[in-house]
Amino acid sequence: MAAAIFLNSPEEHVKWTSGDPSKWQPNHANVECFHSSAESVDCDKKEITLMNKGPHAGVVISYKAVILATGQKSPLITPMPGMSLTERISEVQACGKALKNAKTVIFNGAGLVGIEMCGDLRARSGYGARVILLSRSGKVLDSDFGDKALKPDPQIVSKVTDILTNKFKVELKEGSVSDPTLAEPSLSPGTLKLESGETLDFDVYMPCYSAGPNTGFLRSSSAEILDGRGALVVNDSLQSSVHPEVFGVNVTNKKIPGHPVIQYLSATAEHCAKQAISLLEDKPLKPFNGKAETPVPINVKIGHGKGGYMIWYGLPGPAKACCCLPCKGGFPFCPPPCCWCCLPGCSGACGNCGEPAEGEGPAIFMPNLLAKFPTVKGLGDYGLEKPAQATMA
Ligand SMILES: Cc1cc2nc3c(=O)[nH]c(=O)nc-3n(C[C@H](O)[C@H](O)[C@H](O)COP(=O)(O)OP(=O)(O)OC[C@H]3O[C@@H](n4cnc5c(N)ncnc54)[C@H](O)[C@@H]3O)c2cc1C
Repeated sequence: MAAAIFLNSPEEHVKWTSGDPSKWQPNHANVECFHSSAESVDCDKKEITLMNKGPHAGVVISYKAVILATGQKSPLITPMPGMSLTERISEVQACGKALKNAKTVIFNGAGLVGIEMCGDLRARSGYGARVILLSRSGKVLDSDFGDKALKPDPQIVSKVTDILTNKFKVELKEGSVSDPTLAEPSLSPGTLKLESGETLDFDVYMPCYSAGPNTGFLRSSSAEILDGRGALVVNDSLQSSVHPEVFGVNVTNKKIPGHPVIQYLSATAEHCAKQAISLLEDKPLKPFNGKAETPVPINVKIGHGKGGYMIWYGLPGPAKACCCLPCKGGFPFCPPPCCWCCLPGCSGACGNCGEPAEGEGPAIFMPNLLAKFPTVKGLGDYGLEKPAQATMA
């Protein structure tokens, strides 16, 4: 979630990293942890083979049930499966250096992630570079307010467009690219061709959308296991329709119905864990009935920290009251103890008194809030991994 921060400021990467497994791995008698990525999950043999890399290189594990929670492919924004922390640190450093030196940066995808990247680039590297945000529809937030919600909210779309273009000096450009190589980022200069025929030069190019679930390691005699996007085809219990002992979290063909995404995914993870146990105990499985809190994002972040801008938007009821959104009061009108906390930036968390709940204050508050949320322990420590010298990709 902090990728837009540390890709622009590599020195902040460590704050969001927990490199010492002893601090976060489950410590139960019946849990065994393996610290190498899965090379393959053979669903016919019910066997996982780990990559020939890392502490458990090449280990083969048999399973009775497996839950896939391998996330979505977003090159650069998330590490490639199998990448060591040292390699990831170099990648993040190379990205930060390239973004700082770039004269033209193209972010492809005007969803929440692309918007964060634009804001964090401006907040951290200033206004020297030309920043282009490519959007298939020419609009911002078209998938977050399109696919997941029923229709885009024209008010927020126009507010974010106005702030991005006028305050953050970002060029919002309608267009899409069909060249498959542009599914990968580039930290060195190049030219891209839009489907309209227009060409754009860049120093850094970064896709800011998911390129589908990380499921390339799945092996099965049935081609039906995945859909055309590589998503695990599941029934209502989030169980593979082909291999009943395979479950999926955030890698399935079921759409995520709303926000906050992580809250919804946590519920699916808990559900899959329970169903896997039921399967082992020969009990009937239950459908997943989880609902998203709200169809729209609870906030839109145009960068974090000083120089960033955040808009509170779809907060659910109780949190809304805490954040004074109904009266648009902001600090100091927040009812204690809701917002009178001691997180840095708290006093501006809801925006300025009497003004809309948005601005630089919430953007300063947000990273401090994010740092409090993660359930992983030991953030701020690379462990045994040492930052390597930056290399350009
Ligand atoms: C910039 C950004 C900002 C975001 N902001 C928000 C927000 O404000 N609110 C919100 O709710 N959501 C937010 N999200 C979305 C949220 O971060 C993701 O939806 C969430 O992290 C997905 O969790 P996950 O566990 O499914 O996948 P991930 O967090 O991607 O975890 C998957 C893990 O599986 C590992 N893996 C992959 N392949 C293999 C393999 N072969 N073997 C072993 N391990 C493997 C990966 O390395 C990774 O560690 C944001 C996302 C981004 C990119």
